[in-house]
Amino acid sequence: PEEKNYVRRIHNVSFSRVMPTPFHSLPVLVALSRDVLQDLLDLDPCDCAQSRAFLALASGGQPQPPNSLNLAHRYGGHQFGHWAGQLGDGRAVLVGSYLNRMGGYWEAQLKGSGKTPYSRDGDGRAVLRSSIREFLASEAMHALGVPTSRAASLVTSDDAAWRDQFYDGHPRQEHTAVVLRLAPSWFRIGTLEILHRNKEFELLRQTLDLVTQHYYPDLVQLHMNTPSSRYAAFFARVVNETAEMIARWQSVGFTHGVCNTDNFSLLSLTIDYGPFGFMETYDPDFVPNTSDDEGMYRFQYQPSVGHHNLVKLWETLKPLVTERRDRDTMHEGLMLYAAAFNNAFLGLMSEKLGLEGVGDEEETEMLVAGLLQIMEDVEADFTMTFRELSETTVSDLVTDTLPGHTWVLPRLLAHSAWRGWLRLYHSLALRCATDSSMERVASYSEGMRMERMQGVNPRYVLRNWMAEEAIRRAEDEGDFSVVHRLQRVLQNPYLVQHEAEVAGYAHQPPQWAQKLRVSCSS
Ligand code: AMP
Ligand code: MG
Ligand code: MG
Repeated sequence: PEEKNYVRRIHNVSFSRVMPTPFHSLPVLVALSRDVLQDLLDLDPCDCAQSRAFLALASGGQPQPPNSLNLAHRYGGHQFGHWAGQLGDGRAVLVGSYLNRMGGYWEAQLKGSGKTPYSRDGDGRAVLRSSIREFLASEAMHALGVPTSRAASLVTSDDAAWRDQFYDGHPRQEHTAVVLRLAPSWFRIGTLEILHRNKEFELLRQTLDLVTQHYYPDLVQLHMNTPSSRYAAFFARVVNETAEMIARWQSVGFTHGVCNTDNFSLLSLTIDYGPFGFMETYDPDFVPNTSDDEGMYRFQYQPSVGHHNLVKLWETLKPLVTERRDRDTMHEGLMLYAAAFNNAFLGLMSEKLGLEGVGDEEETEMLVAGLLQIMEDVEADFTMTFRELSETTVSDLVTDTLPGHTWVLPRLLAHSAWRGWLRLYHSLALRCATDSSMERVASYSEGMRMERMQGVNPRYVLRNWMAEEAIRRAEDEGDFSVVHRLQRVLQNPYLVQHEAEVAGYAHQPPQWAQKLRVSCSS
């Protein structure tokens, strides 16, 4: 009897066929992403909004599209530093891939669509709360220029799931939901790790060939008859792209929350939005995930966690990289990670300060570090510090004449290091203006600095309290209007929007938001 219920270990396969499980109750459409439907799937959003067939598809009901093959993916992963064994798509299924009219290739998944062979003791469902967060965050990240999976639709139902959201030992019933999400690939580092761990080297090789042929055809061209070199070059590419992705996270204050290798995409896309958080008050030790007691995935550790995950990938690829020089390529690639990250991060921060191309790396580095230190000391809001700097002229900063509506700058001004910082900033900004290139002199003005900065420093990010407001309305009242408002606003995070200002999205969070915590029960 003890053997009756067990987790089946599956070998030598990467996918299991499994159909999504329809809801018992009627599915209700919460939101659609127009851009995703139109641009990625060649669908008419208005048609989708009214179509029963689309609702059926997007909720995991029938009928599924013709020729579609529904698959759950087998992967493993290191979770919080420890090998966790077989994980896999426990509540997601791949419903198909689509080559759109622009030649873009997208794999569509339903998340929350029922049990799979990889569900372990989970119910295969996702609650509306976490689905709203994933839906809004992935689209918001895209608008911020961060490589990410996309979300096409969000559907809910009256089917309930039990979740202990507050860790008080009292699970509560919540609405369930399904997100239709898209990525060019859902392969993760954990995809390869499990094959390595189980010595399924033939499948590991096949998977790697598939990934490189499909997503890195240039590498295949370059190393046609030398797989060992191809895998090494692939690794070096992943190192670079991971560094770039994490630099972008850091530049918008995004903390993923669960940086396990099973949540790290082989294409370096941000995937699996769970207990993530956009940092509000600047705090390098920010931890959005309430279950991350030791703060292993805190904001400032993300770059080194990325490195750790790449080491895991390196270990996984090693048996297939047989040539000495290819092993050297991998090693060098890994060694260059820190520099790749620093370069990318500094580049983004220079842009945020309106100083791109100023040239002196050391000074820029000092400037960035100095500002972050002041921000930390005075507990300045991360997003609004940069935004307010981009909405104020340097001469107004120098004379302490701030526009009336500023929220964060007055705090910075009170810091003892502010004057010194501003002097350096001023001189670098001036150098930007008087750069030897004539074109630059002619084109520079304060107004242009501010305009450029406003184009890269968002005024609106998905703060927890904003998501929470949308969730409460949706969960308690079946009212999705705040979800829709956030969708509209976050699609244009750099543009001042009336409804966002009225809702207070660029202002100090409301009192009730002070004690908000994010649960990873989702
Ligand atoms: P995550 O922490 O969300 O990345 O999930 C880690 C693993 O747990 C993945 O294999 C998920 O598919 C699985 N999982 C999470 N929640 C559920 C659930 N409600 N039912 C089944 N599997 C789940
Ligand atoms: Mg995951
Ligand atoms: Mg997840």
